[in-house]
Amino acid sequence: MKYGRIYNFSAGPATMPEPVLEEIRDEMMNYRGSGMCVMEMSHRSKVFQQIADEAEQDLRDLMGIPDNYKVLFIQGGATLQFSMIPMNLMKNGLACYVETGAWSKKAIAEAKRVGEVKVVASSKDKNFSYIPDCSDLDIPDEADYVYICENETIHGLTYHTLPNTKGHVLVSDQSSMFLSRPCNVSDYGLIYAGVQKNVGPAGMVVTIIREDLIRDDLDDLPIYLRYKTHADAGSMYNTPNCWAIYVCGKVFKYLKSIGGLGEMERINQAKAQVMYDFLDHSKLFYGTVEKKDRSLMNIPFVTGDPALDAEVVAYTKAAGFENLKGHKSVGGLRASIYNAMPQAGVEALVDCLKKFELEHGKE
Ligand SMILES: *Cc1c(COP(=O)(O)O)cnc(C)c1O
Repeated sequence: MKYGRIYNFSAGPATMPEPVLEEIRDEMMNYRGSGMCVMEMSHRSKVFQQIADEAEQDLRDLMGIPDNYKVLFIQGGATLQFSMIPMNLMKNGLACYVETGAWSKKAIAEAKRVGEVKVVASSKDKNFSYIPDCSDLDIPDEADYVYICENETIHGLTYHTLPNTKGHVLVSDQSSMFLSRPCNVSDYGLIYAGVQKNVGPAGMVVTIIREDLIRDDLDDLPIYLRYKTHADAGSMYNTPNCWAIYVCGKVFKYLKSIGGLGEMERINQAKAQVMYDFLDHSKLFYGTVEKKDRSLMNIPFVTGDPALDAEVVAYTKAAGFENLKGHKSVGGLRASIYNAMPQAGVEALVDCLKKFELEHGKE
């Protein structure tokens, strides 16, 4: 590892690809002959417009986003989308939500401030350790959309099959799995992702929305909260998060250069396998999620003894592995192994955990 960097297992903001950080460093004082750093540039300048246009085009190429979808860069993080989605998409005032963990719960709470929410499936009964069967949900005809959190960052769950929405619009929070695998955008009406998990710096969300869902009859809604405002202004109604657009654009180019999302998925599967093989054979540690629903990005695991878990966290930290403490709602440990975490980092972590087991007579 160069520059004294460490393996950072943070759930977000999270580790970034080193070649991207190096490019940013090289462009810091003078971006391509402009004489300025990107953070000093007018968002109305030609040079920044090109950065933003390329970022959008590279994302479209990566995901194969159809022409009838808009790509929006909006501030307020993923959290503001919890509110913007019901404000913009609830026409009949009713939406269906699947409750699978902390982030879908937050989205449900916000949607309830706007209209009626029907929770059509939940895994609350087992502390969100599985994805409920979504093949035959009871969805009222008038429901405006069906909402999922496609990867629960805290509980470590992922949908490996999308719900059967019975023809209703599917809305997905992809924050902690964005660009980790290929995605068929036409399966969704709206996809959004806070970028600080898998793509870039905090403070921006990418929203991909089918054009027919963008309404122009929302005169009572504050202008900034309407998707139409952002769509009509090319995400520059006001000063956007220029720095995040610039950095995300670099990550999109980097993902294209390594072979796109199919290759990224192959790498992510191999990486996660290292961790899950270890957990499945360990006598000390075990994963908290049902095998069929495990995330490739966020891996919670425990010993079953909170005091011992705390010891492991301190042990890994002393060995140079940061941010492995689990979220308080699950306890134990959590390894977030986003796109930018190299396989060597996961292997080194597993070696460290094996050493801990040996020293505790559990090998
Ligand atoms: C982190 C996260 C959010 C919230 O993101 P902010 O940018 O902090 O608002 C929402 N959903 C999921 C799945 C997340 O992981």
